[in-house]
Amino acid sequence: MKTRHLAAACSLPFLVSPAFADGAFYGDPPDDTHPWAIHDMNRPQPPRVEPGTFSTQEKPGTPPSDAVVLFDGSPASLSNWLADKNPPEATRWVEKDGTLQCVPGSGMIRSKEEFGDCQLHVEWSAPTEVHGNGQGRGNSGVFLMGEVEVQVLDNYDNPTYPDGFAGSVYGVNPPMANALRKPGEWQVYDIIFRRPVYQDGHMVDPGYLTVFCNGVLLQDHTPLEGGGGHRGRSHDRPFPEKGPLKLQDHGNPVRYRNIWYRPLPKRAVEGGDTSVMNPEATAAKRSEIAASIRGKAAGMQGKDKLLHLLESLTYQKDAAAMDEAKKMADAFAAHLKRTPAEKLEALKGDTQQVNNALQYLARFQIANFDAAAGIQQLVKDREWDK
Ligand code: MG
Repeated sequence: MKTRHLAAACSLPFLVSPAFADGAFYGDPPDDTHPWAIHDMNRPQPPRVEPGTFSTQEKPGTPPSDAVVLFDGSPASLSNWLADKNPPEATRWVEKDGTLQCVPGSGMIRSKEEFGDCQLHVEWSAPTEVHGNGQGRGNSGVFLMGEVEVQVLDNYDNPTYPDGFAGSVYGVNPPMANALRKPGEWQVYDIIFRRPVYQDGHMVDPGYLTVFCNGVLLQDHTPLEGGGGHRGRSHDRPFPEKGPLKLQDHGNPVRYRNIWYRPLPKRAVEGGDTSVMNPEATAAKRSEIAASIRGKAAGMQGKDKLLHLLESLTYQKDAAAMDEAKKMADAFAAHLKRTPAEKLEALKGDTQQVNNALQYLARFQIANFDAAAGIQQLVKDREWDK
């Protein structure tokens, strides 16, 4: 795909010229549910995140630069956690050798931080000394928003009901694999969590969990079905806006380390500007982009101004921009007509750009300009389209 794209770009070098209105008039234009064109340079660049490092058994890795760290092995980061009690009180879990260790009987803990959709990184280790069977061996749990459990359990060599297996969405869906290391070794969970979204009392997104264990995919965008639970079948329901991360005390001294999360941007379904958007949000975004381009055009002259006005029309119809663009296109065509043949070559680049823009608007039925046919003929006659 990339190769094909590059090949296409290379055969049309003027399309990738930096002077060419920031790459406009190139890919398919915005539509009712996509506010940006294909390959649209007006789309924001992804924010820079400095990646962290991976963990080894001996040493936890470092989080990416934008992560919120909930436990980094320091005694101080124990204070990011409370006993899950009301009123809140300090946790009786302990920091030991850089790990956060469950003290059986002390109860669940919860993070002081409250958050919703996230990428969550958690590492855990079941006791080296194996006790118990089934759900009784190295049991703990990672509760997103305190509402839905990704099971923590020593299932290295320990069958149990699959929807309660390590990496299950507990009571909802078994993991697709058992990728656990031996008890006592560190297991790495990387989790992507999306909470349910309701609008006007109706569910528009059930919420999802994607879970990797030690780099192996266990849950692939699994619908939450209300968050699961013990024995009872759960049903879709709204979650709060945000909630704490909770870690379960299930009577086993499970250890944790290197816990961090990255908040995720809103999904399109809740007003975010990613993937397929609803028509209202798309129209609003297109209007915003068009206004920004018209604003740039206002400070420009000549061909650059014309190209920006034309570009703005690919996002939003605007009578004033259309009128001005038509006048400018007519003036551009008239200028070409007046230019003696021997001096036309100097206008080749500008003419190719304007022609491409006008043809693009015609091709996608955005606007037709009287000046387009004459400019296109000139480009053909002089073989500037070769
Ligand atoms: Mg559990």
